[in-house]
Amino acid sequence: MNDKRAIIIGAGPAGLTAAFELLEKSDVKPIIYEASYEIGGISKTVNYKNNRIDIGGHRFFSKSDRVMDWWRNIFPVQGSPSCDDKLLGREIPLSTAPDAPDPEKTDKVMLWRSRVSRILFLRKFFDYPISLNFKMLSNLGLIKIFKIGTSYIKSIFFPIRTEKSLEDFMVNRFGRELYRTFFSDYTEKVWGVPCDHIKPEWGAQRIKGLSISKALLDAVKNLFGRGGADSIDQKDVETTLIKQFMYPKYGPGQMWEEVARLVQEAGGEIHMGRQVRGLRHRDGKIAGVDVKDAKTGESYLVEGDYYISTMPVKDLVLGFDTGVPGEVADVASELMYRDFMTVGLLTKKLKIKTIPA
Ligand SMILES: Cc1cc2nc3c(=O)[nH]c(=O)nc-3n(C[C@H](O)[C@H](O)[C@H](O)COP(=O)(O)OP(=O)(O)OC[C@H]3O[C@@H](n4cnc5c(N)ncnc54)[C@H](O)[C@@H]3O)c2cc1C
Repeated sequence: MNDKRAIIIGAGPAGLTAAFELLEKSDVKPIIYEASYEIGGISKTVNYKNNRIDIGGHRFFSKSDRVMDWWRNIFPVQGSPSCDDKLLGREIPLSTAPDAPDPEKTDKVMLWRSRVSRILFLRKFFDYPISLNFKMLSNLGLIKIFKIGTSYIKSIFFPIRTEKSLEDFMVNRFGRELYRTFFSDYTEKVWGVPCDHIKPEWGAQRIKGLSISKALLDAVKNLFGRGGADSIDQKDVETTLIKQFMYPKYGPGQMWEEVARLVQEAGGEIHMGRQVRGLRHRDGKIAGVDVKDAKTGESYLVEGDYYISTMPVKDLVLGFDTGVPGEVADVASELMYRDFMTVGLLTKKLKIKTIPA
């Protein structure tokens, strides 16, 4: 290793992956500064009295083979069923690699898991993403279904010509009634902005291939037991409809705790409780970062040869000492960040029942 140093801000997935890659592919030493005392950013798994709670269920799924291989390189996919796989009679595509791990014997393993997400709406549970099945139709009732059907047909024959907002985008694809029923409130709650204030390009990017016809096709495939995916790649499945995914035995945080361990083992440094407060700038380049130690309250300057930031863009831009164009500073100061609340329920006993895939 030579004496070149990369200063990395944040020990979330991005910062840790960058550090790992630098150690694998270069002779630059990564030095991570992490504001909190926890590894994994919003992908962490919180350990509460030995109960591991994710900050939102995290699916390890990507259509990029490179990303999938990267994760599988850290934790290989299970080669035999876990005790709950057996208990629930799950049929999962086990890895056939000769050294594929047994989840009952090792913790360093990716499990193969099915997704269950639901929306509580009209005091009833609806599958998310919405799936067209008998339960959904009986939850909605005949009148609502009729309205959804007619408004969908209307949207086919009389579409909004110029889509000016996400609302227009969704109405054109799902009909106004379905949009009002499921998408309008949900999107506003998740993103904090009403759909008529969001540009249509956002919808095109997030749910580009999803439509009623695709949802119908998926429902028909499910009826004949061919919905979802037969393989872990699920290349032909729309991302929002992905039903199965890899999941580290002890949650997403386990992945990042392991990567942090490997980074340190290979000579990288991780400094916890150190917040980057400002960025020094000289001759068009970053010249150093100001780091504050949460325990002592002291601040000091850290210099490196390379800088990688995974901190919020707003803080990054406003943290520059000089040289930020006014327009950029204005946009950065108006970026919105949302609070997020996760409720973990601890139960004394769990009566497990099989959920149809
Ligand atoms: C509810 C929910 C569900 C999700 N589900 C999935 C999923 O199923 N699959 C998936 O792939 N992704 C999912 N994601 C997205 C995933 O969590 C993020 O893409 C990922 O965590 C981003 O990683 P990051 O390292 O860029 O940022 P972060 O995870 O935000 O990490 C940034 C780190 O930098 C630190 N930091 C910030 N400012 C400073 C500073 N000034 N100085 C030092 N350190 C700083 C933070 O403390 C944090 O540890 C989900 C996210 C949420 C919220």
